[in-house]
Amino acid sequence: MKKSMIAILLIGAFALSMPFIFNKSVDVAEPHKLDIDGNFILNEWVPSRVGEGENWDYNLKAVQVSKRVWCFFGAMEMPTKENAGDMSNSCYIKGDTEWIAWDSGPSYVFAEQAYAQMKKIADMPVKNVIISHEHDDHWLGNNYYTEVHGAKIIGPESINENYFGPRHIEGQDYPGLQTRMIKALYQNATRQTVLALPTESFEDTTKFEISGVKIEYIKVGYVHSEEDWYLYLPDDKVILAADTVMNGRVTSNRDGLVVGQINALNSIKSKEWDYLVPGHGFVTDKTAADETVLYFELLRDRIIEKMDDGIIADFITKEVTLNEFRNMDLYYILSPANVFRSYEELEMFDEDDLIDYEALKEEAKCESRS
Ligand SMILES: [Zn+2]
Repeated sequence: MKKSMIAILLIGAFALSMPFIFNKSVDVAEPHKLDIDGNFILNEWVPSRVGEGENWDYNLKAVQVSKRVWCFFGAMEMPTKENAGDMSNSCYIKGDTEWIAWDSGPSYVFAEQAYAQMKKIADMPVKNVIISHEHDDHWLGNNYYTEVHGAKIIGPESINENYFGPRHIEGQDYPGLQTRMIKALYQNATRQTVLALPTESFEDTTKFEISGVKIEYIKVGYVHSEEDWYLYLPDDKVILAADTVMNGRVTSNRDGLVVGQINALNSIKSKEWDYLVPGHGFVTDKTAADETVLYFELLRDRIIEKMDDGIIADFITKEVTLNEFRNMDLYYILSPANVFRSYEELEMFDEDDLIDYEALKEEAKCESRS
């Protein structure tokens, strides 16, 4: 009796699962989400979230950092609907006749409101926007400057390689890549935001002068993303470090390299500066880079130590916890992932990958003397 009951149940269960086994008969609620082979498209287009009405008010206040530099400081959070992507720092440099923008923020609306604040300080246009790296909290304001000011976008080639703007192919219009910001934020924050990619990229570190401001655009390469650059203003003794430096919160090394980070921090150390603006965080004095330096040194040393003890990747986040940073923002979200990612990288670590910037500087001095 019992056996036949089980048999009936099994037959019933099989009948119920039929549509899943022969998936032709599964009803797909949204057939447009299947690709040509019938697979689900994971990276699909997401319609803008509600949040119609007036544009998001970012309530921006420009903070003067040095004689020529003002910055907008973002929240110490991940991008959310509530902060509308205002969670990174972006700056303006005052030229003789124009403003130079360093990173353009998370949206068109953000850039528009940032400029409105700067215009009160000096009524000058923005002709050049300089971008640090490809993460979208740093450059989605670009198209405000290209469309309204006719600005040029100087930025890493990696943005052109990894992103695309709206395209017109065979008579059809296609939208640009939907980045995490465009997917996550309300429409009244992302409205008018269109990906505007760099129009000018450099192979390597470049020195130029814009509107009377001497600028060094320094390539540090694979650091926090595939291609990172920072700005050095030698006359102002200011470094705009973007995400090679963060303070008050744990950094995100998900796309980065520990060895790259240490190289970038050594490059920054080799410059003479009084102020440094991090990509995230509020400290801009001589101590601005200290936390990041400590974080990556401890990360490297402790992982290498545990590796030498024979700890395998599965247990590394238990063994290396970086307790010194426990009270900082985003510690629990980001630090274990940083440890795991760094283990994978450091397994292949080679001392020769470290760049001795002090020695390079000495070499350059000797060469210019001879
Ligand atoms: Zn970033």
